[in-house]
Amino acid sequence: MEKVRNYINGKWVDSKSGETFRSINPANEEEVVGVITKSGRADVDQAVKAARDAYEKWRLTPAPRRGEVLFRAAEILLRKKEALAKLETREMGKILSEGLGDVQEAIDMGYYMAGEGRRLSGETIPSELPDKDMKSLRVPVGVFALITPWNFPIAIPSWKVFPALVCGNTVVFKPSSDTAVCAAKFVEALIEAGLPKGVLNLIYGSGEEVGEYLVSHPGVDAISFTGSSETGERLEAKCGAIHRIIVTEMGGKNAIIVMDDANLDLAVEGAVWGGFGTTGQRCTAASRIVVHNRVYQKFIEKFRTATSRLTIGNGLDKRTDVGPVINESQFNKILRYIDIGKREGAKLILGGKPYRKGNCSKGYFIEPTIFGEVHPEMRIAQEEIFGPVVSVIKAKDLKEAIQIVNH
Ligand code: NAP
Repeated sequence: MEKVRNYINGKWVDSKSGETFRSINPANEEEVVGVITKSGRADVDQAVKAARDAYEKWRLTPAPRRGEVLFRAAEILLRKKEALAKLETREMGKILSEGLGDVQEAIDMGYYMAGEGRRLSGETIPSELPDKDMKSLRVPVGVFALITPWNFPIAIPSWKVFPALVCGNTVVFKPSSDTAVCAAKFVEALIEAGLPKGVLNLIYGSGEEVGEYLVSHPGVDAISFTGSSETGERLEAKCGAIHRIIVTEMGGKNAIIVMDDANLDLAVEGAVWGGFGTTGQRCTAASRIVVHNRVYQKFIEKFRTATSRLTIGNGLDKRTDVGPVINESQFNKILRYIDIGKREGAKLILGGKPYRKGNCSKGYFIEPTIFGEVHPEMRIAQEEIFGPVVSVIKAKDLKEAIQIVNH
């Protein structure tokens, strides 16, 4: 078990309150992965001040030099890839091969942004006036607050932290409370790579208490947020009211269209991976499959057979295809949606229950679930469930299929 503290101004520190919370393994709720310091407003104030104080020097550090730190961080992540992937599986449940992919995304992003340090070029533009020189330069924004979800616990932080840093911004990073240990390990790589103190600060605590205060903090210049649409829209409204830059990446309700001339085996492969990869917990998950009437029945049979072959279990076991869902509250929410689907009149084709066999009895496992005969207006076809639940919807032709997808 790890003890994880805030990282502020170059030091690992306990929160002012001294309170903690636990990060647990969703495959086994009895396994505590980390005990995490729980921050409050005073800790946010301290982190923002550290980022402000470090800004001037970091801003003036040549961009190629900033990029070199990121390059070294990418090398460190590469060296630790296997251990980090295993930690991801333990902390948020995704299967090991996906964990390795997640860390690889961060490594790739590190190399990519390191290169950007050498090409943060502006433009020179011909002027219509004589003896005038026109040019544009890239300049940093200032202090960024970066807020991330748990489903890509190292990749998503890398998509935010690396670009912010290479451009000369300083950062206060608030990761999801569910993947606090992964966030600490990511930050450790940057520290080992030689990032100066105060340039990247890490704080833990709930979104409502710490995240919201951070977003509207007067010492912050801009926000980048990835998470649910509900939270993102709330933060957009808050930032709009104070004219603060915010970038939001939010929820999804993606679809695959299967027409009557499709290669059904290939379509089923895509539907299984799209619907049940990462246990359906991806903003890009294919939670709706729109199928042409003529091949609907055949598709359902093949999709059902392929899905029933998936192995559910702990993601550290190489045979596992589908791991647990992230936590108890999400587990209950998904089961509520399955109940809603049944009550709305959709036909339960497969799954629909918690999975408790073998060593899955202590985790948040749900059977991969397929609903057929789903009407596009049903809530299970409209709302993001963020779990292993796929709705199959009939369409009479491509035009109707596209209308359903865009609905
Ligand atoms: P979430 O509940 O919105 O939380 C995301 C982050 O925001 C967490 O760090 C959370 O902190 C924090 N937060 C929550 N309420 C906040 C508030 N009022 N003010 C400031 N921060 C707040 O989302 P999630 O359950 O972690 O992630 C799943 C969602 O992310 C899904 O909707 C998924 O589609 C979306 N997602 C989108 C993308 C994309 O690129 N578009 C990628 C991945 C995921 P705590 O959790 O610690 O409270």
